[in-house]
Amino acid sequence: MNVVENLERVREAIKRAAARAGRRVEEIQLVAVTKGVPVAVIRELVAAGQTALGENRAQELLAKQPQVPGVEWHFVGSLQTNKVRAVIDKIVLLHSLDRLGLALELDRRAQQQGIVVPVLIQVNVSGEASKHGVAPEEAGAFARRVASLPGLAVRGLMTMAPLVRDPEEVRPVFRRLRELARRLQEEVAGVEMKYLSMGMSNDFEVAVEEGSTLVRVGTAIFGRK
Ligand SMILES: *Cc1c(COP(=O)(O)O)cnc(C)c1O
Repeated sequence: MNVVENLERVREAIKRAAARAGRRVEEIQLVAVTKGVPVAVIRELVAAGQTALGENRAQELLAKQPQVPGVEWHFVGSLQTNKVRAVIDKIVLLHSLDRLGLALELDRRAQQQGIVVPVLIQVNVSGEASKHGVAPEEAGAFARRVASLPGLAVRGLMTMAPLVRDPEEVRPVFRRLRELARRLQEEVAGVEMKYLSMGMSNDFEVAVEEGSTLVRVGTAIFGRK
């Protein structure tokens, strides 16, 4: 398997999906999710021009980062509170702010370090018990609370759609997230709904059609592990 060819295929698919929706492809950033992927393979991808990488475990991020310089790292997984201090100054965006306790710890550590951490609020649109994230009905109150914390900057929303055979089935999930972002932008002072992080290997084309600005793709580039 050739990860550079896969990368090219994913990029082309994003381009086509953007064109179908009448969107500019520049609005969409591909985050290559490198969990479980060896550094040597990540370097091939970076050499092919991939600049945004995502990890879902703090330890793995911290181990890989020094070995793959010159790229930006996104944190996409559930972040344990006790890992906050180690990662907050290593990432360009936290996609997965899913609870108040995490927000408070991020704020405390960010203020200590004199930085502001850009975050996306993870929303459990589908309501699956196995998924992290705040309920859509609670997102407004949660966003308002987080917006009041000086160490955090709310920059958008993230969701994970259920895994389904036909990605068309999850189109409403993405549509709902986009609608929610539009509403929060109007109703909540101090948030900037700049990013919609939605779409993974199975469904990123539908997500792009529905307005995604950050697609998080692992398997379609690196294969199954
Ligand atoms: C692993 C992971 C991805 C990538 O999933 P694929 O289906 O392999 O593309 C995206 N987002 C999160 C939060 C992940 O943990």
